[in-house]
Amino acid sequence: MHAPIKTRFAPSPTGLIHLGNARTALFNALLALRHGGVFLLRIEDTDRERSRDEYIHALIEDMRWLGLDWQEGEAAGGAQAPYRQSERGTLYEHYYEQLARAGRVYPCFCSEQELKLSRKAQLNAGQPPRYSGKCSHLSSDEVAAKVAAGLRPTLRFRVPKGEEIVFTDGVRGAQRFRSDDIGDFIIRRADGTPAFFFTNAVDDALMEVSHVVRGEDHLTNTPRQILLLQALGLPVPSYAHISMITGSDGSPLSKRHGSLGIGELREAGFLPGAVVNHLARLGHYFGHDDYKELAGLAAEFETARLAKSPAAHDDGRLLYWQKAALLKASFEELWEWVGAEVRDRVPAEDAQSFIAALRDNLVMRADALRWAGRLYDEQLELEQENIEIVQAAGGDFFRHALEALTLHGPRFKELADEVKQRSGVKGKALFMPLRVALTGEQHGPEMGRVLPLIGMERARRRLEVWVNTR
Ligand code: GLU
Repeated sequence: MHAPIKTRFAPSPTGLIHLGNARTALFNALLALRHGGVFLLRIEDTDRERSRDEYIHALIEDMRWLGLDWQEGEAAGGAQAPYRQSERGTLYEHYYEQLARAGRVYPCFCSEQELKLSRKAQLNAGQPPRYSGKCSHLSSDEVAAKVAAGLRPTLRFRVPKGEEIVFTDGVRGAQRFRSDDIGDFIIRRADGTPAFFFTNAVDDALMEVSHVVRGEDHLTNTPRQILLLQALGLPVPSYAHISMITGSDGSPLSKRHGSLGIGELREAGFLPGAVVNHLARLGHYFGHDDYKELAGLAAEFETARLAKSPAAHDDGRLLYWQKAALLKASFEELWEWVGAEVRDRVPAEDAQSFIAALRDNLVMRADALRWAGRLYDEQLELEQENIEIVQAAGGDFFRHALEALTLHGPRFKELADEVKQRSGVKGKALFMPLRVALTGEQHGPEMGRVLPLIGMERARRRLEVWVNTR
């Protein structure tokens, strides 16, 4: 029997969530779901200046909208509450003291300025910048004197010398780091707030997180966090570092590549299933492009299928998934999705047929609105090119069409057959002027579904416009 799997999403609420962190959340949710485990949401708000409650609310809303349910953590509760790091101060105190007792930490009084200069000097000497260890040799008297003088130290973790930190990354395989390449690092800031390295690792252990899936920008943090956990005698989770998302041009994903906030995508009318299916393919190999619900994605999710190379986000792919999601959505979902403006425009008794007719032709909400206009507007605006198409068909053609409409009602097949018999026109020359005169467009949903929605009276008026064409 394996220990139960627990994964987590641990955002810092310093901004809105975007495709990158939503994907991290999704992969963790899928991994837990796949193994019947627990998915946890922890709020890493130790940076009091940049963290905002509104971002916490927004990220909860975004995650709920995406359907990423968590069973423990913020707004869900659990045995390890509280789940906001800003409320876990006393817990962290306990572990700082444990490290102090073991002589694994020391106060550091180096100023920003000093540290900057030392970094610069090391870089100039072609060395990787790391803390020189200057304050590690201070005697307790020296420390006491500095404190008495009003200096406020940071707390540094004493990295052991000559060790090798080895772990197996779920994506990248065997990893080896030399402790001698890692400088003593800060685990508590001068203002007393705990640093990321520390809270993140301690909380993973206390909250019994078994698997950490996170961005590869954290890969070099991992050996530091393993050292910390070992020093505290706390369990070390399994890590998997996923590659970054880039734009289709290969550069790191940024605003420039379009709207990337989850909230923005929702506002723009993307369906959550579209975003989820799109994200699931960014860096995880499924081997097919079938639309899946979360459970379906989870069933095929494996860390071994996570890619080492960067994943390219492409708007075209997101639109592909949007179409796929629209095809899967229920009538109720789509009727909700089209928005109030469309619902006001389309008579209630037509709602079902409107959605059934349009389903294949929708990508964004604007398409629904445009088609509501095409079907229910009294006046159809035609583009010049389309005016030429109906004019080329001529007045006689539309007189036949009007007679056919009177005879058969708004049934397109019968109407077209009738016009064909009477005018001798067939194929595109028959269908195109009828479609254009009736809908104002050369392409669109099946006329057989659309004409009943336009209805007898509007269809008649739309055909009559053209009977005097020569
Ligand atoms: N709060 C960190 C971040 O948002 C979490 C990193 C992690 O997943 O370990 O980058």
